[in-house]
Amino acid sequence: MNGMAMSLAAGTSLSPMELWAMERKRTSAGPYPPALTGMRGSQPGSFEVAHAVAWRGVRYPQPVKQTDDDYDLVVVGGGISGLSAALFYRQRVGPDAKILVLDNHDDFGGHARRNEFNVDGKNLICYGGSQSIDTPGHYSPAASQLLKDVGIETERFYEYFDQDFFKNRNLGTGIWFSKEAYGADVLAPSVLRGFFDMPDPAIAEAVIKSYPISSESKSALTELVQSESDYLSEYSRDEKIQLLRRITYREYLLNYANATQEIADMINNTMLGLWGLGWDALSALEGYRLGSVGTQNLGIGKIEGDPPGRDEPYIFHFPDGNAGLARSIVRQLIPEAAPGSTMEDLVATRVDYSALDQHESNVRMRLNSTGVDVRHTPNQKTVDVTYVRDGDPYRVRGKHVVLACDNGMIRHICSEVPEAQAEAINYATKTPLVYISIAVRNWRAFSELGFQYIYVPKAQLMNSFGMDFPVSMGDYKFTQNPDEPTVLHGTFIPTKPYQGLTGREQNVAGRRQLYEMSFADFENGIIRQLDGALSGGGFEVERDVAAITVNRWPHGYAYEYNELFDPHEWNPNNGPHIEGRAQIGRISIANADASAYAYVNGAIDAADRAVNEQIG
Ligand SMILES: Cc1cc2nc3c(=O)[nH]c(=O)nc-3n(C[C@H](O)[C@H](O)[C@H](O)COP(=O)(O)OP(=O)(O)OC[C@H]3O[C@@H](n4cnc5c(N)ncnc54)[C@H](O)[C@@H]3O)c2cc1C
Repeated sequence: MNGMAMSLAAGTSLSPMELWAMERKRTSAGPYPPALTGMRGSQPGSFEVAHAVAWRGVRYPQPVKQTDDDYDLVVVGGGISGLSAALFYRQRVGPDAKILVLDNHDDFGGHARRNEFNVDGKNLICYGGSQSIDTPGHYSPAASQLLKDVGIETERFYEYFDQDFFKNRNLGTGIWFSKEAYGADVLAPSVLRGFFDMPDPAIAEAVIKSYPISSESKSALTELVQSESDYLSEYSRDEKIQLLRRITYREYLLNYANATQEIADMINNTMLGLWGLGWDALSALEGYRLGSVGTQNLGIGKIEGDPPGRDEPYIFHFPDGNAGLARSIVRQLIPEAAPGSTMEDLVATRVDYSALDQHESNVRMRLNSTGVDVRHTPNQKTVDVTYVRDGDPYRVRGKHVVLACDNGMIRHICSEVPEAQAEAINYATKTPLVYISIAVRNWRAFSELGFQYIYVPKAQLMNSFGMDFPVSMGDYKFTQNPDEPTVLHGTFIPTKPYQGLTGREQNVAGRRQLYEMSFADFENGIIRQLDGALSGGGFEVERDVAAITVNRWPHGYAYEYNELFDPHEWNPNNGPHIEGRAQIGRISIANADASAYAYVNGAIDAADRAVNEQIG
């Protein structure tokens, strides 16, 4: 079940000698991170130093001797935000600026992570974290410009993303009831409304009859899906909004929309992937915004103060997700590491990791390096950054520092953060998520069964799984034939519902659970789910699964304010994170955390502000 090496020679025009030289360089530089399988994301070896510092207060001595040259800018954290900060700084200060980016992982991009497989001779690429460029039409001028500057023309995805792929093959949304939760393995079309679910009230009644739920629940669900009544008809529009903001969508279903407990449990996780929380910890107003069942006739319209709705399709997706963006930025910063010149040729380009940290380069990226101490030098004109690599501390010096790491780490590594600011940062938490990439030898079962996405109520592990996004660009072609290998994508989000915990408390408890899970726990759970859901379509796990990569992100989405638990006036422009991201002399704070917005543009905008603070 382990990863297989990609064929280096495939598709190159290099001479055998050049290939041999590249191969030697590659093997001497260690394994190629995107092709590693097993437990990835926050992989063993990447987080231990940070945990020692944050949990046990371990302090590393600041080395007297400096490791290498002085830098103009040192960035701690090599995710989209840190990479953007490096790019903005270089653009604004000039190409001679010396920049060092540190990251604790063995790969760059933070959550924007690429997974690769080679199955039966076919190279497969998919994403292990940050998924798509969402609604780029709403990006700030700085974020839009960055996309252009690194060669990304989002319009081209209209050509590359086959929006009719699944429709043309009659592949829809399924719901799989597991034997463990419902007494029998039953796969059926889904009738649930929502962001990713395709509602079809017309067929609802017949479909619901096949669900393994009580007849009372069947009637209640049929009524919910087909209903034309306004369950809050006795309230005014303002009263409706106030009420829906105060109660959970789960409460709304149970107390206002005549749902049974069984129905509420079944629906609870439909938006887990978006929020990292179930409907027991999200407002009914959010349920309404996302078009969930039972809210279709409330007659509220657009809610004042809400951000603009979705007016672009969800198609801005590289085969490796937003790793395509991370790689585009790296190509600008360190061209030798990612040869080529277009967003199309980048997809198949193999990054040369040995080129990331070269002395002769003005921009360097040092992986496997955890920042542990950041402080101004006594004259306040520079900042010393101590990092740990392979167990040893090293020190570098920068005229400016951008902390683009998880903001929760900052108070542990920078003692200059004032107490009130540390408290403001501490308000937030991160949402734990796991993105699972499963390389399969064929997708005949999906074709046979007629589904491309499967929601799993009361899931033991993956709360949904299905086929990857149908994107073909450059030399990379999405599978067209069910007999060909492809990659399935699954999502697991650990939550602790129905225990009266707030969203933040559930995030903390979920993160703990995640750390206790071994790769074998994942593997067993994934195999059981694939077998239970797909065997009716002829899927045989032993034969059809080629490899699994579990991308574990215990510190996943940046905290976004939740109107159920936080003051509803808090939003990306107003909340404790504003105080939390205050500049500290030559140190500025980036990362999507600093924008309280768990999206690429949150990460880029934070970098833009941080760099402006430093050079302004
Ligand atoms: C599973 C998943 C799916 C997502 N999907 C989308 C999506 O579809 N669209 C979208 O716009 N956004 C998505 N996001 C949100 C994502 O967080 C942002 O898109 C963006 O990638 C965040 O970038 P960042 O640089 O702010 O943070 P990160 O990606 O977290 O990068 C920060 C980096 O700093 C490192 N670091 C932390 N502490 C230290 C230290 N002390 N020393 C050195 N390095 C350190 C971290 O390990 C990490 O590598 C998703 C996130 C996750 C987890």
